[in-house]
Amino acid sequence: MRCFNCGSFTLLDFCHHCENELGELSLGARDLDDESGKLRVYSFYKYSDIKHLLHSKHKFYGYFVYNFLAKLSFKRFHEFFAYEGKISAIALDDRVENALYSHSAILLKNLKSKNITIQFNALHAQNKIKYSGKSLNFRKKNKRNYKLLKKINSPVILVDDIVTTGTSMLEAKKVLEKNKISVLFGLVLADAKE
Ligand SMILES: [Zn+2]
Repeated sequence: MRCFNCGSFTLLDFCHHCENELGELSLGARDLDDESGKLRVYSFYKYSDIKHLLHSKHKFYGYFVYNFLAKLSFKRFHEFFAYEGKISAIALDDRVENALYSHSAILLKNLKSKNITIQFNALHAQNKIKYSGKSLNFRKKNKRNYKLLKKINSPVILVDDIVTTGTSMLEAKKVLEKNKISVLFGLVLADAKE
């Protein structure tokens, strides 16, 4: 078969060269700040560097791509992060799409560590409108309308695959804070800031 990243022949989903290259992590950070609040979001990759891989999201083979990337990134988050005490990690929305898989649930499960507990299906968007290619103004007018579905008793890390304008992250944070849950930061696979 061919490497999902570079197209060269390999026996695996990704060739060794790409595995090494994608495994060289440097954590990026962006501070979101608008009238609804503030939040720091950490990212493992620049969107432009892995854009071609993230396009697999709505296809069957995206399951393998997301698992591969999550092992190289989310699974190693504890190397970057020291925190005493219990934390919960929840995804912005981890419902299964098209009866295939949930890409954010794949990221989420790889974040599990000694002090990070994974809470699947804790937050769901009631408005599933597509934000891709839409303006900031459109995103603000058409809120995700998140609903909290679980009782959470520890500070939270918010997980998603991509941060673009950050409106979803800030909206989710607001919903959690209304429920007296503190949000530590956001964590995404890729930052799409230009
Ligand atoms: Zn390759």
